[in-house]
Amino acid sequence: MTTKTLFSRIIDRELPADILYEDDVCVAIKDIHPQAPVHVLIIPRKPIVNLSHAEPGDQAILGHLMLAAGEVARQLGVADAFRIMINNGQNAGQTVFHLHLHLLANKRFAEQGLFD
Ligand code: 5GP
Repeated sequence: MTTKTLFSRIIDRELPADILYEDDVCVAIKDIHPQAPVHVLIIPRKPIVNLSHAEPGDQAILGHLMLAAGEVARQLGVADAFRIMINNGQNAGQTVFHLHLHLLANKRFAEQGLFD
């Protein structure tokens, strides 16, 4: 028996979350510990562990996540300026092992810095 990920439990409504967007491939929720005024997680329904575990057959899902990020950004009124981030692996800061895009916005990002 495999254990469901935290995000699968949220997607299946077993745990609460602020769901901002969903379609048949992915769900977008507000991050519980936001790092910016807008901090949304875009999560595929398929519990891919992370990018390193994605397979060629996941190509459509990965592309879909990008398009969904653009759609969520438009819906939230931040389409002109946002950042997308993926933490891959524990040493890169991944804490939930179910692939997700971080969408961050309404923060004054450094003009040239990648990380601030
Ligand atoms: P990671 O560190 O894996 O890249 O990102 C995991 C993200 O999930 C973190 O930003 C963390 O705040 C968020 N998170 C962890 N647990 C929950 C939860 O129960 N609900 C929501 N909405 N976000 C969560």
